[in-house]
Amino acid sequence: MGGTFDPVHHGHLVAASEVASEFGLDEVIFVPTGKPSFKQEQDVTLPEHRYLMTVIATASNPQFTVSRVDIERQGLTYTVDTLRDLAAQRGDADFFFITGADALEQILTWKDADELFAMAHFVGVTRPGHQLTVDGLPGEHVSVLEIPALAISSTDIRARAQAGKPVWYLVPDGVVQYIAKYGLYRGLS
Ligand code: ATP
Ligand code: MG
Repeated sequence: MGGTFDPVHHGHLVAASEVASEFGLDEVIFVPTGKPSFKQEQDVTLPEHRYLMTVIATASNPQFTVSRVDIERQGLTYTVDTLRDLAAQRGDADFFFITGADALEQILTWKDADELFAMAHFVGVTRPGHQLTVDGLPGEHVSVLEIPALAISSTDIRARAQAGKPVWYLVPDGVVQYIAKYGLYRGLS
């Protein structure tokens, strides 16, 4: 599951847990992006902070791991490179790429989109405020899954933290404390 995870929240964790259960996955690898190609004009929190928050959020689940492939690669992050790097590390694995409805809608605009579908099976999950559609996507390589609706976004969490509003119960407790400890999102305009 790729994402900016700025910060990771319970919407991400429920999506991962549901897909793992429905598709019988052995492991979910969370892959925080380096510099996301589609968020170039916005300030994204340092990769190391986003990586550590993702580690904290997933630490208690033995099926969840976090990969550094995207934060260690130079340049912008593209999912095709993520999947290539993971395949090189674990050539014998069958990959599933977990994505929310909003991201799935954009997928044909991603770099080397046609190659992506040969590298992983894509699972799109429902997300409040977004239509889950597979129009134009190759049906044999894409599945959709309805998951419990959590109207949570990292954008909203950053705005709350900036405004001094609580983020408790939207993100895992350790992530609330990490945000406070490093004063993340305070200076947003
Ligand atoms: P931002 O608001 O900064 O874009 P975000 O909440 O969308 O943050 P991302 O890191 O962009 O989080 O998302 C990573 C992946 O998780 C994407 O595929 C996204 O669609 C999915 N996702 C995020 N939040 C939810 C949610 N509440 N329910 C289902 N899927 C989600
Ligand atoms: Mg997003």
